[in-house]
Amino acid sequence: MPGTHILILGGTAEARQLAAELTGRGGLRVTTSLAGRVAQPRMPAGEVRIGGFGGPEGLADWLRQHRVHAVVDATHPFASVISANAAQAAAAVGIPLCALRRPGWSAGPGDHWHSAVSLVDAAAQLPALGRRVFLTTGRLGLAAFACLDQLHFLVRSVEPPEPPLPRHIRVLLDRGPFTLEGERELLRTHDIDVLVTKDSGGPATAAKLTAARELGMPVVVVRRPSAPPGVPLAPDVAGVLELLGQLGQLGQLGQLGQLGQVG
Ligand code: NAP
Repeated sequence: MPGTHILILGGTAEARQLAAELTGRGGLRVTTSLAGRVAQPRMPAGEVRIGGFGGPEGLADWLRQHRVHAVVDATHPFASVISANAAQAAAAVGIPLCALRRPGWSAGPGDHWHSAVSLVDAAAQLPALGRRVFLTTGRLGLAAFACLDQLHFLVRSVEPPEPPLPRHIRVLLDRGPFTLEGERELLRTHDIDVLVTKDSGGPATAAKLTAARELGMPVVVVRRPSAPPGVPLAPDVAGVLELLGQLGQLGQLGQLGQLGQVG
């Protein structure tokens, strides 16, 4: 088995890009971990393990057992529990951790964005903004909207949501990337007058924001949870390679010293 073992905490497009970039490099063993929420996940290159670790202690045990040299947290910006667990586990084991955090979206001219600190806050703002809601915050956390009996919801998620759910709800099972034409069509067909989104960032799900802007539609944007303090962040795969390369040059990761120079 090759010497340096990297664990990628995945579940995002960038995690798959990173796995593809690292897998097959001489001397590297690359494992991606998926939470197991999606029945048919898009599989990354390299080794894959699926399911929770059992909290930070379980993750620390796994890191020791599998002789992991470095962890890259490439989970979704809203997956805050696993990110905190990774910080705790990597510190306990004494191995480096860095995180890939794609930049958030920012409002431009013509946007009517309303910032929310949580799904509950987003739900509280909705009655003043519209009656027909396109809810794209994922299948979890819909309980926050369940009490809004007067509003009609179009919910888009990869897997079916579970109760409690709003009384008037239509579910669209789909996963990105989504096109501008498709998003325009969706907003028109369902007569949507307000959009709710997490500030996920990235291009795959940004078209809905453009479509909403074109229609002058209000958008409630749920702010990101903060990343664990002290973890080096990179905005993309190239940035992670650079961080890993720096660790290599510091002698902490052997053959990873050249990574930052490869694109
Ligand atoms: P979370 O709330 O941060 O994590 C909850 C628990 O799920 C963790 O304590 C961990 O269980 C397990 N877990 C999460 N990510 C894992 C991973 N990559 N490998 C192994 N176990 C993992 O996570 P979440 O928000 O439910 O997201 C779950 C997964 O979906 C993440 O991998 C994330 O990248 C992806 N995702 C999330 C969102 C979102 O909006 N939250 C959107 C797109 C994709 P244990 O404590 O037992 O280890």
